[in-house]
Amino acid sequence: MASFKPSIPPASDSSTSGEVHVIMGPMFAGKTTALLRRIKSEGNSSRNVAMIKSSKDTRYAIDSVVTHDGVKFPCWALPNLSSFRQNFGGDAYDKLDVIGIDEAQFFEDLYDFCCTAADHDGKTVIVAGLDGDYLRRSFGSVLDIIPLADSVTKLTARCEMCGKRAFFTLRKTEETRTELIGGADVYMPVCRQHYVNGQLLIKTARSVVESHKFKCVSDTFAEATPFV
Ligand SMILES: [Zn+2]
Repeated sequence: MASFKPSIPPASDSSTSGEVHVIMGPMFAGKTTALLRRIKSEGNSSRNVAMIKSSKDTRYAIDSVVTHDGVKFPCWALPNLSSFRQNFGGDAYDKLDVIGIDEAQFFEDLYDFCCTAADHDGKTVIVAGLDGDYLRRSFGSVLDIIPLADSVTKLTARCEMCGKRAFFTLRKTEETRTELIGGADVYMPVCRQHYVNGQLLIKTARSVVESHKFKCVSDTFAEATPFV
């Protein structure tokens, strides 16, 4: 029986073999801390490192990645990843060994960037981001790069209600935009049980507010309309 044998071209240069590592999880799970630890340890092994974050996230500092507990690292704040090479400089990019990407859910071109950087340019790319949004739906392109990854780590936080392991991010406000950037004032990490309870509470609160709004409008309308 004939078997298919793919012809594998000889590797032209072993140094062009890159890697992709994904660190994901809910908010407050220590994703940025884990990313910084990896980047710093790569830097200590005399590898050239650079860090990128989204320019959408200006919560702590524009030119630094900052963890929730205040640890800082200089970074490039960019609207997209495709502009990194040009901003960083072609020669400097060629000398880079490791690229860290924080808040990766905000980059629409994450998949293409990881492919090029790891497959063709031989970079080790370490990506940290949210896997899901506050509705537990896939957020941005973070899940799309899992088939490209050498390793995937899902971190957990502590449930703010009961202290058990938290896998999800609950939005405490009634805002319904997917991209609402905020910290502990807007979001909290929760376990499954408290996610479900919390969603129910928020839905009830929202419908009370909506019906109150409707009542105000209809009252105003009734006052403005002369009784016929
Ligand atoms: Zn809980």
